[in-house]
Amino acid sequence: MINRRQFLKVAGVGALAMAVTPLDILISSCKRNKGNENNRALLAAADKVFSQLENNTVLLPGEQIVVPVLDAPLVGVARADNPLFESFRNNEVIGAQWRPPGAWMPEAKSVVAFFFPVSSEIRARHRAARTATNEAWNFGYGKHGQVVNAFLSGMVAEMERQGVKTFIPTKDPSFKIERQPVMHGDKEDMHYSTSWSNRHIAFAAGLGTFGVHRHLITKSGCSGVLASMILDWEMEPTQADYRDPYENCIHCGACVNRCPAGAISLENLRNLKECSTYAANLRTENDPGYCGKCLVGIPCESVKP
Ligand code: SF4
Ligand code: SF4
Repeated sequence: MINRRQFLKVAGVGALAMAVTPLDILISSCKRNKGNENNRALLAAADKVFSQLENNTVLLPGEQIVVPVLDAPLVGVARADNPLFESFRNNEVIGAQWRPPGAWMPEAKSVVAFFFPVSSEIRARHRAARTATNEAWNFGYGKHGQVVNAFLSGMVAEMERQGVKTFIPTKDPSFKIERQPVMHGDKEDMHYSTSWSNRHIAFAAGLGTFGVHRHLITKSGCSGVLASMILDWEMEPTQADYRDPYENCIHCGACVNRCPAGAISLENLRNLKECSTYAANLRTENDPGYCGKCLVGIPCESVKP
């Protein structure tokens, strides 16, 4: 059985475990700032923008049925000067590519993370599918980027209307992801050193922790998509209900058994090299090859187990 120290190191979050104390700072800060008006205004803006999205449905051509793509997001807030952000530069977490909020926008005061669950209609079809890929996931999950982009554009406009400056690092031309070869156990793997990571931002913003499959497990599960933005707005940080970067994962191994590529193990977590190679081999001219079997049919699909 892997011990916790090995588990965190393999997962590339060893330094996070050492840096969880700052969450206590967030919690005490939260207690001092109850009822922040800016938080309420941001939630109201997110509700409004999400409910007015015009592209959050998809036609499944085989079934000739229209289903929703994403559910309304969970929203978490971190202070821009959260000490966790400095720890992300550690090579065992994200690495030297990482740039904290103030490096993107000097006026940064808060960072907001969004987790949009994939709709139950799409998840149910993906869960039941017996084929390597299926139209619900290909067309439904496959449209999430367009939906999230429309949401973020709406949020930028809504915040501007309220006089708030925003910045979205993943949309900036300088945003970078570098793939670095690493070994996990006796297997070759890949480490993604990136200048901004929605998963790590969401962890710092109290939305959830990582799982063996390396997705973020929130109170609405892991089967969803993440986005984030920086604001020059003072906001109350979200109170995280965890201390450990893997606290929401019950280490049950269900995602290991779901993976058709054998790319996940309890000892070495999801092997990103094997996962991406499998997905690339699924792709054809008419099939984007979205796998995602490890996001459904597991205890952490839609709840925190
Ligand atoms: S399926 Fe089980 S082991 Fe895999 S991430 Fe979810 S809780 Fe963890
Ligand atoms: S996306 Fe597919 S291949 Fe990759 S880890 Fe998940 S189940 Fe395995």
